[in-house]
Amino acid sequence: MNISNRARNIPPSSTLAITAQVRAMKAEGKDVIGFGAGEPDFTTPALICEAAAKALSGGMTHYVPTPGTPEAREAVAAKLREENGIDCTADHICINNGAKFTVFLALQALLDPGDEVVLPTPAWVSYKPMIELAGGVMVEVATDASSDFKMTPEQLEQAITSDTKVLLLNSPSNPCGTMYSQDEVRGLVAVLERHPHVVVVSDEIYERLVYGDEPNLSMGSLASMRDRVVTINGLSKAFAMTGWRIGYACAPGGDGALIKAMNKLQSQMTSSITSFTMPAVVAALTEGRAEVEGMRQIFAGRAKRIHELVSAWDGVVCPEPTGAFYIFPDISCSFGRTSPGGIRIESALDFASALLDETGVAVVPGNDFLGPGAKHVRMSFATSEDLILEGCRRMEDWLGQLSACEQVASG
Ligand code: PMP
Ligand code: GLU
Repeated sequence: MNISNRARNIPPSSTLAITAQVRAMKAEGKDVIGFGAGEPDFTTPALICEAAAKALSGGMTHYVPTPGTPEAREAVAAKLREENGIDCTADHICINNGAKFTVFLALQALLDPGDEVVLPTPAWVSYKPMIELAGGVMVEVATDASSDFKMTPEQLEQAITSDTKVLLLNSPSNPCGTMYSQDEVRGLVAVLERHPHVVVVSDEIYERLVYGDEPNLSMGSLASMRDRVVTINGLSKAFAMTGWRIGYACAPGGDGALIKAMNKLQSQMTSSITSFTMPAVVAALTEGRAEVEGMRQIFAGRAKRIHELVSAWDGVVCPEPTGAFYIFPDISCSFGRTSPGGIRIESALDFASALLDETGVAVVPGNDFLGPGAKHVRMSFATSEDLILEGCRRMEDWLGQLSACEQVASG
């Protein structure tokens, strides 16, 4: 079978690969603690499940309109108007099979070959492959811990050229667990106002899971940006609905021109999301706020706890998570050392692989997140506090048993 270059050249999603590996190890009866999966450990709130079950048993099993039912699109538009301050109507919304596919469709609808996409890194593993699948060219802006992994206005200014088509922004951030403050968003906007040819794809899938004093500021709510921001969100993370595959985009510019283009593509690809989940979208967005807040509070407690545990490890540095459910420690203090099982650690990949083999703790090596990611691992705290405690205890013991650094040993 001759596989296309396109398919051959794209790496598989490393986050999903680790999740699958942990699942397989558990099925074999191994004692594994998974900090890999970026998915809530909660079950979907009952009121949402009931809405879908009722629609299913009531016969809502036929094709539905490609961008979503009018009720579901209106529920999304109302949420974005009321909670995010985005001036939009149902015509500016499309609902897709997970926010991952929403980002993919948006890039397919925006990019022509050679168009540049500014991407601050470390960034979610799927962005680069998606940019490339759309024929775009990634322009990486590497950030580091000194700015809490946030791109500065100066860095943005430098990265923009006449070929820039898109700025792909993700706040709160996967994998960094940090978020742009409202002032920082405004600082980026001041630069973007000078470059009206740049469209912003703003992935706000973690916007409800924030732990600081300030809520997320949606760039699309600022009047000067309304017509050139695509706001992307979905139900997976905030409502614990990863398996349902529901994402959406809002793009009011040109009276929904981008949404029409995305719908056209979707009509040739998936037709729509699953029909009987449409009423669940309405239920989640209109009646699910208290449920989301309950889960957010639990995540906030875990963010604090895991940060206390991880920052106590000798030589390991990491900012406290302010959003999403990830902590992103710099583990480069382990490089040049040997694990208790005899593996020499030179990279985050070696670290993660030896850690899993020797302690049963799964973390995601930061390499595929780009930028300085290769010095980091990502740990998801979308898991119970007991497992966080036990996993961190195993990691601390293991770190304590690494051999002395070679430089120290020879010096
Ligand atoms: N964006 C980011 C930054 C993510 O971490 C994820 C996680 N999968 C997604 C988009 C997509 O979420 P989903 O497809 O489950 O809606
Ligand atoms: N976004 C989650 C993660 O980063 C789920 C897996 C994926 O889609 O990448 O782990």
